[in-house]
Amino acid sequence: MAEHAKVVVIGGGVVGCSCLYHLALSGITDALLIERDELTSGSTWHAAGNLPTFSTSWSVLKLQKYSAALYRELAASADNPINYHLTGSVRLAHGRDRMDEFRHVQSMAKANGLDYEILSPADLKQRYPLIETHDLQGALWDPLDGDIDPSQLTQALGRAARSLGARVRRHTRVTALAQRPGGEWLVSTDKGDVVAEIVVNAAGYRAGEIMAMLGRHLPIAVMSHQYLVTEDVPELVARAGRLPLLRDPDTSYYLRQEREGFILGPYEWKATPMWQDGIPDDFANQLWNDDFERLEPYIEDAIRRVPALGRAGIKRGVNGPIPYSPDGNPYIGPEPGLRNFFHCNTFSFGITQAGGAGKALAEWVVHGRTEWDLWALDRRRYTEYATSAYTVAKAIEVYQNEYASSFPYEERSAGRPLRCSPLYHTLQAKGARFGARGGWERAVYFDLSGQLATREQLSFRRESIWHGVVAEEVRAVRERVGIMDLPGFTKFELQGPGAAAHLDQLICSRLPSVGRVSLAYALTPNGTILSEFTITRLAADHFYIISAAIAATHDMDLLRSGLPADSTITVRDRSAEFGSLILAGPQARAVLSQVTQADLSNAGFPWLSARAIKTVTGTMLAMRVNYVGELGWELHASLDQMPDLYAAIWRAGAQFDIRDFGLYAMDSLRIDKCYRGWKSDLENGYTPLEASLDRFVDARKMAFVGRDAIQAELQRGPAQRFVPLVFDDDGDAEAPYCAQVFQGDENVGLTTSGVWSHTLRKSVALAYVRSSLAQAGTRLHVNVLGQMRAATVAQEPLYDPANLRLRA
Ligand SMILES: Cc1cc2nc3c(=O)[nH]c(=O)nc-3n(C[C@H](O)[C@H](O)[C@H](O)COP(=O)(O)OP(=O)(O)OC[C@H]3O[C@@H](n4cnc5c(N)ncnc54)[C@H](O)[C@@H]3O)c2cc1C
Repeated sequence: MAEHAKVVVIGGGVVGCSCLYHLALSGITDALLIERDELTSGSTWHAAGNLPTFSTSWSVLKLQKYSAALYRELAASADNPINYHLTGSVRLAHGRDRMDEFRHVQSMAKANGLDYEILSPADLKQRYPLIETHDLQGALWDPLDGDIDPSQLTQALGRAARSLGARVRRHTRVTALAQRPGGEWLVSTDKGDVVAEIVVNAAGYRAGEIMAMLGRHLPIAVMSHQYLVTEDVPELVARAGRLPLLRDPDTSYYLRQEREGFILGPYEWKATPMWQDGIPDDFANQLWNDDFERLEPYIEDAIRRVPALGRAGIKRGVNGPIPYSPDGNPYIGPEPGLRNFFHCNTFSFGITQAGGAGKALAEWVVHGRTEWDLWALDRRRYTEYATSAYTVAKAIEVYQNEYASSFPYEERSAGRPLRCSPLYHTLQAKGARFGARGGWERAVYFDLSGQLATREQLSFRRESIWHGVVAEEVRAVRERVGIMDLPGFTKFELQGPGAAAHLDQLICSRLPSVGRVSLAYALTPNGTILSEFTITRLAADHFYIISAAIAATHDMDLLRSGLPADSTITVRDRSAEFGSLILAGPQARAVLSQVTQADLSNAGFPWLSARAIKTVTGTMLAMRVNYVGELGWELHASLDQMPDLYAAIWRAGAQFDIRDFGLYAMDSLRIDKCYRGWKSDLENGYTPLEASLDRFVDARKMAFVGRDAIQAELQRGPAQRFVPLVFDDDGDAEAPYCAQVFQGDENVGLTTSGVWSHTLRKSVALAYVRSSLAQAGTRLHVNVLGQMRAATVAQEPLYDPANLRLRA
C-alpha cells in the first residue's frame, strides 16, 4: 500500500526544509520532504550565505526581515551548531541616485521596524577601515546583515521540522505526479508511491522538471553565478573582529570576510544562462569550472576599493547554478488551475529568503492566503506569454541589473516586444514609446518630435525628459479629446443559469442591473481586498468582467472557485479576442458620434452603462466608463476592427485636435480622481473600508466572502483610511511607493502612489493614514527620498468632485 502524507514537499534545499518546518509549526506534522540526493545538494550547499534584509521591494523586505529573525533564533539554540556571523553590512553609493534609493529604502525599512543608517564617507571609513572612499557619496548600514553556513542552516531547519513530527526522506527521487479524481496526489518515486493531499514544489532549479511531469511550463531559467575565495589576507589576519559585508551595487559585487580571507562575488554584465536544453540528470552536489575572465573588471575594481584584497591570491572559485524567474523573484503560492499544488521555488536569493518563504508557503497551505500581500512573488503573475526564450532573455537582464536601482518609470527592454496590439506599428510610427504590462506593449507616452528617447535618463526625481510631453497629453484629455489603445485588459465572460448568484457571493457590493457597469471588489474571508473587477451585465445571467492585464490567471482561479461541477456556468477568458480603445475628453461624444449612429446622449447612453453599438467597422461593446475622469467611452472590439476603428476615430477627432495619450498621462489623470490601482493602492493587506471604498460595500448584503469580517469592521470602524495628500511645495520628486507618512515624529501611514498632477500643477500622493487623521485639512509630513515634505489631507477626489464631467 502506498504511504500517505498530508503534504509532500519535493526538494530538500534550504527552501524545502523551511517549508517543512513552517508546515509542522502550523500544525501539519504529517508532512514528508522527499529529496533525490542529500539535503542541500542543489544550489544550497555552495551559496555564499549572505543574509541581506535590504530590498527595494516592500514584500521581499518583509520576507528577509523575518528570515533574519528566525535564523538568529535558530542559531542561538544550543541544538543547532550554525556558523552565523551578524556583521552588519555597508552598501556603497557612488552618486545621488543611489543615495535617493537608500533614503527611500531606509524609510521603508523603518516602517518595518528595521533601523538602517545612512553613513557619510567618514562614517563608512570608521566601520570599514580597509576601504577607499574618495569617490563615494556615502553608504547604507544594515545592522542585521551577515552570513550563515547554508548547509548548517538547512540541517537546523530540517531538524526542527523533524522534532515537531515531520519526516525527511533522502535519496528518493520524485519521478511522476498525478492528481486522482478525488483530488489527492499520487507522488511516484523511485522508492515507491506516496499519496498526498497537497504537494509543494521546492525543487530549486529543477522546479521546471516537476512541472513538466504535469505537462506544465514554469518560467524558470538557470544562470551561472560565481564567487572567488582568497587566501589569507595579512590585514585580516592582523585584525580583531570581522569586517562587515560590503556591497558595491554601482559596480555590482559583494565582498565579505571568509575566515581570514575574502569572498568576492560579482553580478557580471556577461551573464551566462545554462542548461537551456535541459538539466543533466546526474548534476547534484557539483559545480562548473571557474570562468574568472568574466569577473576580471570587477576584481580589479574591488581591489581599487579595498586594496588589501589585492594582497592575497585566489584560493578557489565557486561557480554554481541559480534559478531565475523573468523578474528575479521566486514563485510562492498556488499553481493556477490546479488544486492543492503549491510553489516555493526559483529563488535567486534563497538563503536569505527561505525563512520568510517557508512561513508564507505554510500560510498558503493552511489558510489559503498569506499575512503579507506577496503578489510580487505569486506564480500567477506570469501567464503563458512567459515562454522559455522570454524567461532566459529576462533572466539575463535581471542578473545584469541585480544590483541596479529600480527606478520608477523604467521600462526594461529584454524579451520585447512580445505581445502587441494590432495598432502597435501605427502608434510606433507616431512616436509611441512603449512599456510592457503583463507582456503587452502599451504606449507610455508619445514622443511626437522623435527627439526624446535618445536622451532618456532614469532618476528618482522629477526630471524625466517626457514630463512636458505628458503634460500636453493630460491637457488634451482634460480640455479636448484623447485616445488610448489599451491592449491586454483581462476580459472574462461568465455565463449560465446561476451565474449571477455565483458572482454575487464573490463580491461585496450589489451586481449591476442589465446594461449597467459597476466596479466591484472580491474579498478574502478576512475582509481584505483580493480582486477588483469592472462588471458589465449583458443579461440576467451573463457578465462581461474586466480586470488588470496581469490578473488573468489570478482572477480566473477566483471566478472558477466554487463553480458547480455540472458546467452549467462557464467562465471564458476572452482577452485575446478583443482590443480596447479609450476615448475620453469633453469632445468624446462629438468624435464618437461621427463613427456610429448609436444614441450617445445622456438619456440614451448614460454614465456607467454599456451598449452593443455599430460603428463604421462593425459591432462592438461600448462602455461609458473610464479611468481618467472625463466624458468618455471604452470600446471593446474584435482585434480585426482595431486599425480601422482607430483610423476612423482619429479622422473624426482631427477637428478637435485629438491626441494620443499613454500610461504615464493616465496615471496622472487617474490620481486626480483618486482611482485606485490594483496591487499598488489596493492589496490584500487592506480592507475596502480602509481603502475608503465604502460606496462599494453593501452592508445589507447577506452573503459574500468576507462578510463577517466586514460587519465586525463596520462595528468598530476601520483602523486606517485611504486619502489623497497634496504637497505644500513642488519639491523635485514625487512620493515613491511605500513612503512613510508622519504626524510630528510618529509614523501614521504609508503612501501607495505619487505623481505630479498636471491638472492641479501639484505633487500629490495617495496614502493610507490612521483613521483619526483622515479628515480633509489634516497636516502631515511625508518622507520623500529622505526629505520631510509637508502635505495636507484633501477631499477625495481632487478633481471634479460631483463627477459632472463624467456625466456631461
Ligand atoms: C555561487 C552562488 C552563491 C550564492 N550566494 C547566495 C547568498 O549569498 N545568499 C542567498 O540568499 N542566496 C545565494 N545563492 C542562491 C541560493 O543558493 C539559492 O537561491 C538557494 O540555495 C535555493 O534553495 P532551494 O532550496 O530553493 O533550491 P536547492 O538548494 O537547489 O534545492 C532543491 C532540492 O530539490 C531537489 N530535487 C530536485 N528535483 C527533485 C526530484 N525530482 N525529487 C526529489 N528531490 C528533487 C534537489 O536535489 C535539491 O536538493 C547563491 C547561489 C550560487 C550559485
